[in-house]
This record gives sequence, C-alpha cells and structure tokens, in this order.
Amino acid sequence: MGEAQVSLRHLYRVFTKPEHQDSKLAQIEQHLSDNILDFLSQHVVTKKTLLEEIEQDFSDSRVPESPEFVSSHAESLLDKLVAHSVNTYSPTFIGHMTSALPYFHLPLSKLMVGLNQNLVKIETSKAFTPLERQVLGMMHHLVYNEDDIFYQRYLHSARHALGAFCSGGTVANITALWVARNKALGPEKGFGGVAKEGLASAYRHYGINNLGVMCSKRGHYSLSKAVDALGIGRQQLLALPCPTQTLKPEDALKAGKAYQESGNRLLAIVGVGGTTETGHIDPLDELADVAKELGCWFHVDAAWGGATLFSNKHRHKLKGIERADSITIDAHKQMYVPMGAGMALFKDPENANVVRHHAQYILREGSKDLGATTLEGSRNGMAMMVYSSLHIFGRRGYELLIDQSIEKAKTFAEMINRHPDFELITAPTLSLLTYRICPRDIQTQLQSADTEKVNELNQVLDRLVVNVQKLQREAGKSFVSRTRLESPDYPANSVTVFRVVLANPLTSRHDLQAILAEQHTIAQKTQEWQHLNSSE
Ligand SMILES: *Cc1c(COP(=O)(O)O)cnc(C)c1O
Repeated sequence: MGEAQVSLRHLYRVFTKPEHQDSKLAQIEQHLSDNILDFLSQHVVTKKTLLEEIEQDFSDSRVPESPEFVSSHAESLLDKLVAHSVNTYSPTFIGHMTSALPYFHLPLSKLMVGLNQNLVKIETSKAFTPLERQVLGMMHHLVYNEDDIFYQRYLHSARHALGAFCSGGTVANITALWVARNKALGPEKGFGGVAKEGLASAYRHYGINNLGVMCSKRGHYSLSKAVDALGIGRQQLLALPCPTQTLKPEDALKAGKAYQESGNRLLAIVGVGGTTETGHIDPLDELADVAKELGCWFHVDAAWGGATLFSNKHRHKLKGIERADSITIDAHKQMYVPMGAGMALFKDPENANVVRHHAQYILREGSKDLGATTLEGSRNGMAMMVYSSLHIFGRRGYELLIDQSIEKAKTFAEMINRHPDFELITAPTLSLLTYRICPRDIQTQLQSADTEKVNELNQVLDRLVVNVQKLQREAGKSFVSRTRLESPDYPANSVTVFRVVLANPLTSRHDLQAILAEQHTIAQKTQEWQHLNSSE
C-alpha cells in the first residue's frame, strides 16, 4: 500500500513542474493547508497521547527501502505528526516565546522554498544578498540610528558588514563573542592572532591566565554554550547573582576589576535586553560605562526584547543599547517571523572582518558573499520573511503589537494582584511576568514567619506550583511554563513560579481569567493545598 514504482522515469516526475492547476499535487497542497488551518483553530493539545506512544510511530531506524507516493506520505504526516503537534497559535498558549504567526507567512514561505536561494554565496542568491544586507541595515538603523552617508557607505560594501544574519539568538551570541574574541586577541608584531594560532598561543602571547565573559545569572544559557564553543570555558562565564533580576553596575565593575587583577582579561560584558525568564532589562547605559572603564567589549543580548525599539512609548527602556559593540536580535520572537531568523548587529562595520574567511571556489576576496563573515555556511532566504514583515507591519504596526502586549501583561499582573490566592513574583517590564499560587492565609503567614518557617512553606508552595503547572498542561486547554527564581521577597532560596509570555496578540482578557480560574480549581484538588490549609 502506498508503495510507488522505482524507476528514474517516475522519480523525474517529482522534479517536474505540475501541469495543471487541478493536478494531484495541488489537491494534496489544498488538503494539507486545510488540515493545518483546522489544527490551528483547536486547543493547545488536541490528542492526549503519551509521548511513549508517539515514539512508537518514530521507532524504525531503517531507511525505507522503496519510494512512497506523496499523497500517501502526506496522509501519514497528518496522522503521525500534525495530530500530535502542539498548537503554539492558541491564545491560551502563553508559556513560551514561540507563538502564533501572521498567516501571510504561509504563502510567502512557498516563495522562499520555491526559489531555494543560498545566501552563503552571491552566485546562488543574487537579489537575496542585497535584500539581506538591507534588512541588516534597517535593524542597524533602528538601534544605532547612524546618518544616511553611513548607510550609503556600508550597506552594500564588500569589505564591511553591519551584522550577520543567522538561525537564531544562540548563533548570534556566539558570532558576536567570536568577533569580540578575535578582536581582543588579534594579530600584532610576533603573533598571528587567535584565529590563526589558537587560544593557547594567544594566552601565552598576551600573558593572560584566562579570558572571561560577564553577565547576570539571568543571562541566557546560549552564553554558556558560546564560551564553551569559543574555547574560553564555562567556568569563565562570570554569572553574577541578581536577586533584583538585573545586573548591578557596581557589582559588575567590582567583579570585573577583581577578575582583571588576578591576571585575567575580561573579554565582554553582556547586558540582557529582556531576560528570557522575566523580561527584565539590565541597566544598559550604566553597563556601557562599566565596559568602557574595564576596557572590554559590550554586547547586548536583546534576542527577545530588541523589538521593543519599534515602540516610541517603550524604547527608552533599552536606553544605552546604542552604545553596544554588538547586539543580538531574534526576528522569530517579537517580530513574528517563522523560526530560523536571528541577527547579530555590529556597531562598527569593520569589526566583522576579524572573522572573515576566504576560499578559492567560494567566498573570493572582494566578493559580496555574506558567507565570508557568518558562522553558518549554506543558509536559506529567511531574511525575506523579515523584509516582508517589516514592510507589511511597518514600524507603526510593530509598535502597536509591542504596546498591546506590554499593556496586556500589566492587566494580567493586576488580575493576579487582585486575586487573594495568587502572588505576583515579578511585575512586567516587557510582556513577561512570573507569579505563583499561594493561599491567602499562607500569604499572611509568610509576612511574619521566621526564615525556617518561610523556607518550609516555600517548599510546599514550590511543589504546588509544579503540580498545577503539570496538570494544567496535561489537561491540554492552556499552557503556562514554570521556572525557578531568586526573589527579593525570599532572599534565602529560589522559588518556583509560573512564567507567562504574552506574545499572541489574540490572547484576550477572558483567556487570562480562564487560565487563572483553571489553575485555582486544579490547585484546590492537590495534596499540597490541603496540607497548606490545614497547617497552622
Ligand atoms: C531566545 C533567546 C536566546 C536564544 O535564541 P534562539 O533563537 O533560541 O537561539 C538568547 N538570548 C535571549 C535573551 C533569548 O530570549
């Protein structure tokens, strides 16, 4: 069943343009898109199937021997894959940074896949390369706001790059720190530079023990991958405690000086422009001063929060970002572009040259190939999706989206504050907040209890939050995530909290009320709730 004939003549057909509008392929296409639209209008989880059961469908390690008809394969995808996917488009899916996309991306992505341009090399991406450079220019302009002469000079210059387009924030952070590293340990008399000679030689030549990167404990885990991949080592990621959720400039300066005084070199300070867990923004302007004083690179990880710059009302929250040497922005977060769209931007367009690579058959010197300064090789035309979104929404469209999501987070925070059995843990700076469920009597008790009692109660509350989060997810109607945080109210230990990201523009006040009500109902049925309400 579903087995196609194996002959080249048949295979050629797969590569041949379908002849009629009503061809078989067009029917399959219609069928698939109907199914997706149908799926996206349902609950977060449509079918309650155990992960182990789903794994059964993907357990054969052998490559199928014979070809299969596209039509029957499509059916099997609908059955095995689509039916068990998570509906990230649901307005009650408010636990992650991945959310609904505007529907225009479905037809536009066909253009991207249809053309299959490779951005590594201008010979395979004429038109897409200038487009990508323009997108980088527009984002650069949004942050750094240089004059027209600057962009005329650098936007399409073969010897410069305003940034590097990449698959996401992780690669953007690695790229930015890669540039910082190669610049800090660059070539000079008697030394060929770290890119050529490696870290061991570089440390010897420069007489340093270690190279370090500083951020707060709320820094994204991709920074830890970055120092690992760059050979600096995870222990040299100086993640400073931050009970207030942001990196204190005084602490950064002090720790930086101490690090330097022990014979180390501080490579970079990373300020976060919207932390993944709570959406807090580090004091970027002051951190830029600290970086200047310590003589190191200043990187801002604005993977999530960078899009706040579109809003005239809220962009002041990122004040100082324009002083960063490099910046990470993910278009696949608050710019509502499909995944695979990250950017590292460089204040100085010369800087990307410290990672420039050339090869004979490809990336020849003087060519405009973007691949010469990107970590990744072959890359698709994802920049087109960013380009289109920037045009379709415009700055003002994005501004409305950003403003409404921050407004909604504030509304939700008020709802939590008003509810006697919930406790707001971190108020929203951007569209993220954290809270927990905590019976009203316990909230009163916590205010006067001694440390030991507070810790004891918090441990039960932690279990309660874990349980409620899990049961709510399993019920499949809504999704809120959870994390552990240091909180100024409970300095002794971290507490477990619900984490909410209000990204989907269609999430309504009513949805938020329903989510709280569901959590409350679930909580009352748990052992922890009984325990808390019976103890004195
Ligand atoms: C999401 C995020 C990243 C990682 O980006 P990916 O696109 O997931 O690789 C890095 N930093 C911050 C602050 C983020 O929010």
